[in-house]
Amino acid sequence: MQHWQIGETRITRIEELMGPLFDPVRFFPDYSAEIFEKHRNWLYPQHADEASGRIIASMHSWLIETPHHKILIDTCIGNDKERMPYRDWHQMHTSWLVNLREAGTSPEQIDYVMCTHLHVDHVGWNTRLVDGQWVPTFPNAVYVFSETEFNFWQAQRAHEDQNAFNAVNRQTFDDSVLPVMALSQLVEGEMDIIDDLLHVSPTPGHTPGSISLTLASAGEQAMFTGDICHHPIQVYEPHWNSAYCEIPDQAISTRRAVLESCAEDHTLMMPAHFGPAFAGYVHPTGDAFRFEFP
Ligand SMILES: [Zn+2]
Repeated sequence: MQHWQIGETRITRIEELMGPLFDPVRFFPDYSAEIFEKHRNWLYPQHADEASGRIIASMHSWLIETPHHKILIDTCIGNDKERMPYRDWHQMHTSWLVNLREAGTSPEQIDYVMCTHLHVDHVGWNTRLVDGQWVPTFPNAVYVFSETEFNFWQAQRAHEDQNAFNAVNRQTFDDSVLPVMALSQLVEGEMDIIDDLLHVSPTPGHTPGSISLTLASAGEQAMFTGDICHHPIQVYEPHWNSAYCEIPDQAISTRRAVLESCAEDHTLMMPAHFGPAFAGYVHPTGDAFRFEFP
């Protein structure tokens, strides 16, 4: 199992799924085959699949272990959830929980669960199905959510629009967020949490209340950026949104600001969906950036 060391903390990637999951033509509204060709040297085979034409994506959580705490960042899609029409995510039975145990951690040992935002693929393992009920998977954890994000999705519950992605996120809110609210802490604005170990920054755009988390330990830094970039091509083409960015203009300006900050501070960027090597360093290149794949 792959680990990263940031000062006194150890970070482990807990995998749920990985592979050629998405068609880039549908995933990126600005997709162009020429741009993909321009990035051929690093794109294939780790980040795009030549045979299917799909982009490689990973669904994973980050487990942070400090001398005092165990913290999970983002909790993937989860098992047994009703997710139609998203057939690939419907009634999943993955080994995510086994993978967590193989990393040496039981669900009972998790102290904090932090979701960068409340989309379907970031909150799923918050709960699991026990005797027909959705119960907290991590009974001793504090679940940390953005208050803006929580309020946005709570308001969305009243909407009856036919958009399939909105509908699946409303269902997700009911089975993966509401059942853990008794254990939750809502955060707002810039703030330090967990003995100043993590700094929360609002990074809105992909969703209204998306947050990024900066871990600092012994002079080293990592930033958990959620879906600010889904795929490394967005580091090189930061004006490329995903089709799932809720506020497109703001998603672009936030992406640029986060990439600039990672580059300036030599912060290890740890996104939610990049393929191997999953995390890396950002470097400026004129008016865009490049990604250093370790
Ligand atoms: Zn995501």
